[in-house]
Amino acid sequence: MNQVDYLRISLIDRCNFRCQYCMPQGEELDYILQQNLLTHEELLTLLEQVFVPLGFTRFRLTGGEPLIRPGVVDIVRAIASLPATRDLSMTTNGFLLAPMAQQLYDAGLRRINISLDSLDPDTFDEIVGTRGRSRWQQVWDGIQAAYRVGFDPLKLNVVVIPGVNDREVLDLAALTRDRHWHVRFIEFMPIGNDRLFGDRGWIPSEQLRQLFRDRWGLHESRVRGNGPADVFQIPGAQGTLGFISQMSECFCDRCNRMRLSADGWLRPCLLNEIGQIDLKSALRHHTPLPELREQVARLLAIKPEINFKQRESGTTGTYSRTMSQIGG
Ligand code: SAM
Ligand code: SF4
Repeated sequence: MNQVDYLRISLIDRCNFRCQYCMPQGEELDYILQQNLLTHEELLTLLEQVFVPLGFTRFRLTGGEPLIRPGVVDIVRAIASLPATRDLSMTTNGFLLAPMAQQLYDAGLRRINISLDSLDPDTFDEIVGTRGRSRWQQVWDGIQAAYRVGFDPLKLNVVVIPGVNDREVLDLAALTRDRHWHVRFIEFMPIGNDRLFGDRGWIPSEQLRQLFRDRWGLHESRVRGNGPADVFQIPGAQGTLGFISQMSECFCDRCNRMRLSADGWLRPCLLNEIGQIDLKSALRHHTPLPELREQVARLLAIKPEINFKQRESGTTGTYSRTMSQIGG
């Protein structure tokens, strides 16, 4: 059985982008009210008193867009300073990163994943939903700033959407040839924007790998992450290519993570709400911390039985949250 020691923490469900694949077009989302977000203190209490004693040592900050969370640098510093923290990382869209990269690094963040779905500013703006004012350059500047500051590994996430950015996958992969960057291709999932998924579908990772093999050859990298990505490398490249294939290859069996939403719900699985615990309400109702720890320990014990497969077999009902709401 996998040791579950990795917690993905959503700091906020709001975002300054509206990516086509992440959010439904033309519909307003129900955002969490400010007073219902876990406070900085509540988050730290949960980490120190509940998660660390249960063996969690690796944390990723995500959202929504984590860099729009007020006090994000202080949150990074506090988590990085916990003696138990072995690894702290962040997933961001990079838009606000350039002026914050050094502060985040100084606060103790060392690993960062930045979403970059296109190298073409027009396509990028179409994807992130900000037509009329280009955001690509600012994100690219954020990536460069993170690189200069020394984030390592620096990973770029690409969700591949047929007919939108699939023609660019070779150019995106080529970024790894002379840069120590890691480009990860993520299969588009039917979550967030069902209509786009229905219209466009998704491309299996193996199809992309074949394209890269035909162009450059490809070998399995010795640098294997402990996450869901299968890692490959273009021969002679400095960086690597990762493939996150949650549609074509179920990796529930090697899942080592839980998710904490911005309003304090602990979820054992991305797409399955069975067993979730409302930790924020429990804290605010003064549930004793040993009792909370016990509840989370019970959820950990049943986690191997909670996965995508139940969803496919229809036993978990429909699921309507977006990745930005869950904490992708
Ligand atoms: N805002 C940050 C960002 O975009 O990197 C962090 C949150 S975002 C929800 C986390 C990751 O989820 C991003 O890499 C994004 O590409 C991915 N994601 C969102 N919706 C997705 C979908 N329908 N299928 C696959 N990946 C998705
Ligand atoms: Fe925002 Fe990230 Fe979702 Fe794009 S993928 S809308 S940047 S949360």
